[in-house]
Amino acid sequence: MIIVTKPEATEEQIDHIIERIAEWGFKTDVSRGAMRTVIGVIGEEGAIREKPIAAIAGVESVTPVLKPYKLVAREFRGGNDSVVKIGGVAIGGPEIVIMSGPCSVENREQITSIAADIKSAGAKVLRGGAFKPRTSPYAFQGLGLEGLKLLAEAREVTGLPVITEIMDTKDLEMIEQYADCLQIGARNMQNFSLLKEVGRSKLPVMLKRGMSATIKDLLMSAEYILSEGNFNVLLCERGIRTFETYTRNTLDLNAVPVLKAETHLPVVVDPTHGVGLREHIGAMALAAVAAGADALMVEVHNSPELAKSDGEQALLPQEFADLVARVKKVAEAVGRSV
Ligand code: PEP
Ligand code: MN
Repeated sequence: MIIVTKPEATEEQIDHIIERIAEWGFKTDVSRGAMRTVIGVIGEEGAIREKPIAAIAGVESVTPVLKPYKLVAREFRGGNDSVVKIGGVAIGGPEIVIMSGPCSVENREQITSIAADIKSAGAKVLRGGAFKPRTSPYAFQGLGLEGLKLLAEAREVTGLPVITEIMDTKDLEMIEQYADCLQIGARNMQNFSLLKEVGRSKLPVMLKRGMSATIKDLLMSAEYILSEGNFNVLLCERGIRTFETYTRNTLDLNAVPVLKAETHLPVVVDPTHGVGLREHIGAMALAAVAAGADALMVEVHNSPELAKSDGEQALLPQEFADLVARVKKVAEAVGRSV
């Protein structure tokens, strides 16, 4: 349910509305605008509807969110964009944020050297997998705790905040000690117990679209995280399975404007997994920025032929630096910066 206050509502009236809602046992999410304040009421819709909210002084309107997703719906925040912070890096504002790093953390030399390279090229967040969801159980599964420690060391040296994938609820406490943002991978987009668990975390969460998930499925999964209290969620388009086999996946850039219209949450595009072929990743990164993405995630490796995962789609550090320069130009053309 969304409450919009009258333009002339006083601060005292707004505080009173929030207190009354709390007394009724519901939570609130408050977005203050220049003219009106929008108060999203969090709780069971039927129970909220029974309360005489419209009778409280200062309330202009009380409207139910008619979509199946409520808290992620754009109208829940009065049409405003949410800005989500990873460490000190804001995503969802005017600046387009580039996150980069290897698919997997492999050893100290590899992660520190790539972290330094991507930082000097302009990346603001370091990515690296310590727990890897691999199709084959015989493929490299990630360094686990050792990988997390190496990521934290690379953050120490470069100052870049770290995002890394969580695959299992039992690892949350450990990952929270080392990472600045949790990634839920495509294969776990509908792992509802994992979504609820990260919904109770203090860390922001980047939720990747499942490879056969619709945009609505993605939004419903995000709703699970917000419904547990964590509003710091990023949505990531990373390609879906289609009949096309030339590329690894089909990067669904339609999802970018659709998500921007449907939700207040920031939208990230991962052209690396979306395309899967090094030579075409740059073009799709530029297209994603033109389409309105708030952030990009691009895999980089200093020796792709030796990479333990996804080497064929990793850019070399110099290719990445060249791409960042081109991303800057497109960002400026669409009124953003990098
Ligand atoms: C990754 O980011 O390395 C990854 C495994 O991505 P996805 O879950 O999108 O396949
Ligand atoms: Mn990968």
